[in-house]
Amino acid sequence: MAKIGINIATGSLQQEEMIVGIDLGTTNSLVAIIHPGSKNAVVLKEHNSSSLVPSVIHFEDRGSVIVGDAAKDFLITAPQQTIFSAKRLMGKSYNDIKDHAAFFSYRIIDDNTDSLVKVQVGDKFYSPIELSSFILKELKQRAEHILKTPVNKAVITVPAYFNDAQRQATRDAGKLAGIDVLRIINEPTAASLAYGIGLDKNESKLIAVYDLGGGTFDISILRIAGGVFEVLSTNGDTYLGGDDLDNAVVQYWIEQSGLTHQDLAANRQLAQALRLKAEEAKKQLSSKELFEGELNGDKLSLSKQKFEELIRAFVDKTITCCKNALKDAGLKTSDIETVVMVGGSTRVPLVKNSVSEFFGRPVNDSVNPDEVVALGAAIQADILAGNNKELLLLDITPLSLGIETAGGLMDVLIPRNAKIPSKAARQYTTQVDGQPGMRISVFQGERDLVKDNRKLAAFNLTGIPGMPAGLPKVEVGFLINADGILTVSAKELRSGVEQSIEVKPQYGLTDEMVESMLMDSITHAKDDMKARALGEARTEGEQLLKTTERFLQKNAAELEKDELINTANAMQALQLALTMEDKDLIHAKIEALNEVSRPYAERLMDNAIAGAMKGKTI
Ligand code: ADP
Ligand code: MG
Repeated sequence: MAKIGINIATGSLQQEEMIVGIDLGTTNSLVAIIHPGSKNAVVLKEHNSSSLVPSVIHFEDRGSVIVGDAAKDFLITAPQQTIFSAKRLMGKSYNDIKDHAAFFSYRIIDDNTDSLVKVQVGDKFYSPIELSSFILKELKQRAEHILKTPVNKAVITVPAYFNDAQRQATRDAGKLAGIDVLRIINEPTAASLAYGIGLDKNESKLIAVYDLGGGTFDISILRIAGGVFEVLSTNGDTYLGGDDLDNAVVQYWIEQSGLTHQDLAANRQLAQALRLKAEEAKKQLSSKELFEGELNGDKLSLSKQKFEELIRAFVDKTITCCKNALKDAGLKTSDIETVVMVGGSTRVPLVKNSVSEFFGRPVNDSVNPDEVVALGAAIQADILAGNNKELLLLDITPLSLGIETAGGLMDVLIPRNAKIPSKAARQYTTQVDGQPGMRISVFQGERDLVKDNRKLAAFNLTGIPGMPAGLPKVEVGFLINADGILTVSAKELRSGVEQSIEVKPQYGLTDEMVESMLMDSITHAKDDMKARALGEARTEGEQLLKTTERFLQKNAAELEKDELINTANAMQALQLALTMEDKDLIHAKIEALNEVSRPYAERLMDNAIAGAMKGKTI
């Protein structure tokens, strides 16, 4: 949302930065914003033109790049220089897509490896990230032209099934296009938001989002509670969409006209014209009973009834996916309270009716299905801009959360990228006899040593009743609630003594900070491992010294003189090793002390068991 202010120093008008929502689609992409006046989400478009920008990129011979409708025309005339469906390649290797190689009419480098794919155009190579960045650049330029203000920040949507690599690739594409990607959100989450679902924090709901686009189909089952969108399951077919419906119509017309595939292969222009007519027929049949047109003087017609017959198998396939998604989520159709329709192809009445029939309820289709995802992204952008403070949508933890343990080590309880809400607990114990309290220090970050991570909070668990070291059982629990707020609790289980503290882990961390912390953890991984190993060795050595001391205090009388002397020497050597930065030396001295004490420890143990068994018959 834009707020206009006046710069006191210069007296000029200042506009606060606009954060836009972007649906980066396989077939079409578009941008939406929250209208500064009406506060409603609206898609951006020039007068009398569509908001949809076809996700097609054409590379001209002289080096310039065309994106959108103008590029689409080159799909036929210059297929090798015209890229479509780049989204399907995001985060993929050649091996991932080789089964569908025929689908792509441009050159994908077949290196037969698991490294990320590249597309060859002329003598240049492009990664899918670069290709997507061309689309994003075009969207950014259009938005700036319409809004007459710079657009540098965005929320971009991705399919719910996108993995970490694909999400990261999308983020990088944004960066390449000069866009600061504030958040990547799931398309079904965005679609729900556009319907106002999930905006009420007290609402809890199970919903299904059915998305049939140009070339892909996916169904997502979500649980929405307390402003958190949890994906329970996803299913679909990444090679099923509106294009298949067009093709079915083309096939039918070919049969009707007596044309052959050879005719069409020889005349690509005709094939493409036929395809465009088929799409036109399909769209018209979404609101009419009969399509009548012509091509090169020949009449072409199609009834709605015939069309439905042609596409029924495809629609049935999507319903099977819905069944599987429900099964994976462990739900029945009757559990689903709302069904949201997304994607241009859900305008087809047979699709709408079949989905409605399957779920046994009317579907939500009042928001334009081409625009619904972008509109939801704009709503999320507005929330991030701080204009809707009551709502904080967080779906995953960006960094690991844990506590400090002996030796300054980070013990992770909730790993990064955990879904929220999230819960974890682990037991710890004391190191000293009669230790009355324990300090719980909470950290965030990926490094092994807490000193390299970010401290979030610390508190003391006090009032632990006197017990020998190692006996208290202190359970530390982490709970991140739907608001992204972390509560850390500590409870000594034997006595019931308890303490807790609330921490806001997200607060004050920008995306750049998160990124640099992640980079640090990668560059320092080796150092960290060394430091951790040394820390662990020291802790182990200290523990062993303490237990040995305690043992001697109790049992010195039972030991031989040379046993006592050897033990004292071994302890001293270990003590000295602990002051040095050499984990191998520490381990050697630990082993030496164990060597010395093992014989008498076993002897005393046997005696104790014999004593305990006295008078008992087995
Ligand atoms: P994507 O999410 O894959 O980018 P879209 O949601 O934009 O795709 O959907 C594009 C598909 O929707 C195309 O196959 C197009 O033909 C189809 N479509 C658009 N309008 C209609 C309509 N009125 N009736 C049927 N299909 C339509
Ligand atoms: Mg889409």
